[in-house]
Amino acid sequence: MAPPGQLLVLLWLCLLAVALPGTGAGSGRFWHLTDLHWDPEYEAAAAAGRPCPSGGGRAEPAGPWGSYVCDAPWSLLRSAARAMRARLAAPDFVLWTGDDTPHVPNEQLGEEKVLHIIANLTSLIRETFPGTKVYAAMGNHDFHPKNQFPGKEHRIYNQTAELWRPWLSDASLPLFRAGAFYSEKLPGPGTRGRVVVLNTNLYYDQNDETAAEEDPGGQFQWLEETLTNASRENEMVYIVGHVPPGFFEKTRGKPWFRRGFNQRYLGIVQRHHRVIAAQFFGHHHTDSFRMFYSHTGAPINVMFLAPGVTPWKTTLPGVSNGANNPAIRVVDYDQDTLQVLDMVTYYLNLTRANTMGSADLPEWEEEYRLTETFQVPDGSAGSMQRVLERISRDPQHLQLYYELNSARYDLELCQQECRVDHLCAIREIDFTKYEECVKTNSSASAASSAWLLVFCIFLGFLHPQQVL
Ligand SMILES: [Zn+2]
Ligand SMILES: [Zn+2]
Repeated sequence: MAPPGQLLVLLWLCLLAVALPGTGAGSGRFWHLTDLHWDPEYEAAAAAGRPCPSGGGRAEPAGPWGSYVCDAPWSLLRSAARAMRARLAAPDFVLWTGDDTPHVPNEQLGEEKVLHIIANLTSLIRETFPGTKVYAAMGNHDFHPKNQFPGKEHRIYNQTAELWRPWLSDASLPLFRAGAFYSEKLPGPGTRGRVVVLNTNLYYDQNDETAAEEDPGGQFQWLEETLTNASRENEMVYIVGHVPPGFFEKTRGKPWFRRGFNQRYLGIVQRHHRVIAAQFFGHHHTDSFRMFYSHTGAPINVMFLAPGVTPWKTTLPGVSNGANNPAIRVVDYDQDTLQVLDMVTYYLNLTRANTMGSADLPEWEEEYRLTETFQVPDGSAGSMQRVLERISRDPQHLQLYYELNSARYDLELCQQECRVDHLCAIREIDFTKYEECVKTNSSASAASSAWLLVFCIFLGFLHPQQVL
């Protein structure tokens, strides 16, 4: 039992901690939604008994809520919007990381059609969250011809800026028109939070417009300046974008950025990681994350890749059965530090929804909560490193991660090759290090003897970090 004097001091300290400015901000929540990929012709095609345009000739019955070979019918998007309102109608803000149009050839689209689709989805989100700030990023499909984003003014940037004007500050508007990237302070008085929305389509290897440029749109320089200023102002930043750096986890050796752009992005995160609270991207349609390390190997940052709303089965060579259940996500965060506290992902079991028919409203279920499922205190870089270590070590956790990766669509066993593809993609953003990771772990699996690995580590030939 402490003497009464000490108890008084303790009580006083507790009161002081509660009263100190900045400590009372508490926790908030926001939605992250991505890759809606509306197929406007889905219903008409289904009614006429034709395959959906986004299916690319693949035939599968067109259900009332969608099909795994097709992009999203309007009914699915409306149902996602309804589910978001039911689960969290008044988030602090919304992150919307792009890809609105269907996977069809350029000839079936055009500037007007692309803008019409962006306009419709913008209206849906505005009506779902009236008065809520939405930080929207352009996806590689939100342009015509797709992927060909220039690092300078363009009519599509101007038109999109007009559509998103209610969400953009006066300072962001000219920036957006010039390159479709911008930065805003988070809403709320006295906040030190900032959102940086990037146009990483400028770095995509399918983009011929920027292939020969060193810093398309001057975005890298702008990002460095923005992060330097944030540090000076004692702000914390979320980086938001569509196409992520690093590798796709569902096949081997598939990056999206050009090599030089990938390197530069990684370098910026390594230099400025102290002001970056987290990064939120889309494009994969799958649920995964990416770790960033310091030069000494310490985990310094994490990028969350949110699963898509479209269930569309990818046609990317090397990916087998790459569809997903439609999913949406709520992030719990600390309003002062922007630290990610937790994430809850909701999904629609599309098979089940279609079996129930169109009369019943489909139920978007809670799929998982990050802290419960992976037994970590929060979504910090340190915690996500523990998640990575757990799924590396424990086949049951790997399998769980793998099933969540497609929002419980693909329930196959994730065995050796699958394991290496996922773990190396999570661990290594850098091209050379990813290749080394795959090589080390593939040859290790070819030897298929655990004792040999242990022996190598024992002799110091392999650093434990290299072994997944
Ligand atoms: Zn997409
Ligand atoms: Zn994309």
